Amino acid sequence: MRPLGVHTSIKDSILNAIEEANYLQCDTIQIFLHSPRIWKIPEFEEEIIEKFKKQISENGLSPLVVHASYLINLISSNPKTIHSSRYLLKREVLMAETLGADYYVIHLKDNKEMQNEEIFDKVREAFSKIGKLQKCKILIENTAKSKITAKISDLFETFRNIKTENLAGVCIDTCHLFAAGYDITKKETVLELIKEVKKSGDFSLIKLIHLNDSKSPSGSGIDRHEHIGKGFIGIRGFENFLKIKEISDLPLILETPKKTPQDDIKNLTTVREILKRLES
Ligand SMILES: [Zn+2]
Ligand SMILES: [Zn+2]
Repeated sequence: MRPLGVHTSIKDSILNAIEEANYLQCDTIQIFLHSPRIWKIPEFEEEIIEKFKKQISENGLSPLVVHASYLINLISSNPKTIHSSRYLLKREVLMAETLGADYYVIHLKDNKEMQNEEIFDKVREAFSKIGKLQKCKILIENTAKSKITAKISDLFETFRNIKTENLAGVCIDTCHLFAAGYDITKKETVLELIKEVKKSGDFSLIKLIHLNDSKSPSGSGIDRHEHIGKGFIGIRGFENFLKIKEISDLPLILETPKKTPQDDIKNLTTVREILKRLES
């Protein structure tokens, strides 16, 4: 069975994320290291870090994924933003490494004024400045709208051009994929998607799936997550997508809306039911 988990909250302590994951019977988790909309990143106490690592391993939560905060923009036209983004990126990735994370997932944003070559150079430089990592690897996530990461062939092209040792592959988010124009409710689209992956990259470069339904129609370019089965992708769309045999071992992480833990339980149950149906 593929590992299934959710993006869990670190509200009072990073240990909260593990508690939440256990309550939801997750196999894998994703966390932010701090509030993703502020530049400040706190240091964790040594004791908390040790506890966190111990509990992750005792509970067999794998992979451990850290999501980059939203402010980081490595390809901004403003040098000041690039400077602060590189600083925060390095801090976050090194913290992820300290916590024993397997992956650090980042969205690259977009910059219409910048040539692709310059974009790739800027990102490569930022990733290189982190230094050599032992365990944690960076993944670039597809986005709903961007000239470098929305189309899957563009995402692979971006990956290939950045190519540094800290970068291991890509993460595919189903909501972003759908919003970018891949209407996976149609079987033909899924077949075309498989072809595109094989032609422009390789399935082995996809390391993680973010499983989210979409509040916006396919091709809208709008990134708004919805509960599994309740959006435009719907159960049928997820069945079509999860049937792709080349991704059948990949970890699935939900980033669906949540007001209460019940929301996560409902979404996880829906996904488990889909997976069960696909296996039988
Ligand atoms: Zn995502
Ligand atoms: Zn999103």
